[in-house]
Amino acid sequence: MKNNYLLLTPGPLSTSKTVKEAMLQDWCTWDDDYNLEVVEKIRTQLCSLAGSTELLTATLMQGSGTASVEAALGTFTSRKDTLLVINNGAYGARINQISDYLNINFISLDFAETHYPDIDLIEQTLQENPHISHVAMVHCETTTGMLNPLEAVAELVTRYNKTFILDAMSSFGGIPIDMIKLGVDVLISSSNKCIQGVPGFGFVICKDSLISQCQGNARSLSLDLYEQWQTMEQNRGKWRFTSPTHVVRAFSQALIELESEGGIAARYNRYKSNQSLLVNGMKELGFETLLPALFHSPIITSFYSPNEPEYDFKQFYERLKSLGYVIYPGKVSDADCFRIGNIGEVYQKDIEGLLQAVYEAKYW
Ligand SMILES: *Cc1c(COP(=O)(O)O)cnc(C)c1O
Repeated sequence: MKNNYLLLTPGPLSTSKTVKEAMLQDWCTWDDDYNLEVVEKIRTQLCSLAGSTELLTATLMQGSGTASVEAALGTFTSRKDTLLVINNGAYGARINQISDYLNINFISLDFAETHYPDIDLIEQTLQENPHISHVAMVHCETTTGMLNPLEAVAELVTRYNKTFILDAMSSFGGIPIDMIKLGVDVLISSSNKCIQGVPGFGFVICKDSLISQCQGNARSLSLDLYEQWQTMEQNRGKWRFTSPTHVVRAFSQALIELESEGGIAARYNRYKSNQSLLVNGMKELGFETLLPALFHSPIITSFYSPNEPEYDFKQFYERLKSLGYVIYPGKVSDADCFRIGNIGEVYQKDIEGLLQAVYEAKYW
């Protein structure tokens, strides 16, 4: 068994040795060494990456990314509110599912997974349903790799004066997002995506003035984002319940490494050149992308499965894995695809190595 392979997946992803090494110490959750020096610094850095340390506040939440989406939806909407969900993929559908579980009033505007959300239709829906108070959308739909039109939707939602909740799970840290300039009210992401940490917690960034009004909204004790925020604010970095200390330490190291790479702009450029190298190389090997290039994100790309009778994903996957590369199955409902991510500790030479491996693993 080869246990040292590169993850070309949308998270957890390949992390640096130094990020992994940051977990080799045990930490006490009430000590200032941890709360002030690690947690509070992370909270400030996240706000700075999102556009403002003065206007924004970041709350960390235990669990996978979905737990933070659920915490945010349940805490920012009251029982009187109505949420409009812009849905063009599995993660949009998950927002609907969470809303169902939490009994949030919601309207889902569904688009095909391979299509952009229609801005005119969103506007029409806002006009016809003035009781809509919140709008939620996924930034990079990891299902297909589509980068949704954030600027256009944010402009519209701001013009209609609604609260805009963005699932930027797979894009924050890898694509510049200025929440203040764009008018994004709530941004959700997690430790194990483009910041390049390990899995274990998510985070929600929003204005102080927004979360301070949300007391009593949450439908879950563990996922009460308001209470978590209050505890972190009042006790300077303390989590309500056991925090994933090792994961948080690794994340703090990952943020240092993001900065030394040159920040989000530099990371974005690396991911973008990884992605174009990948797509060009795969095309040369006879593969086709699911989406037109215009819709691509620099995060993950869906390729059609080869239309060859001998092709079998599992076999292809195992061959690539034995050569040191792990890819991802497809998630699109009506097309047979597989996905390759290029986020994480992944560089040009790794993509070149992968392309060589794909060449060798092609048996059809
Ligand atoms: C990864 C991801 C999630 C949720 O992640 P989990 O950590 O698996 O719960 C949510 N939304 C998007 C867009 C993602 O890429």
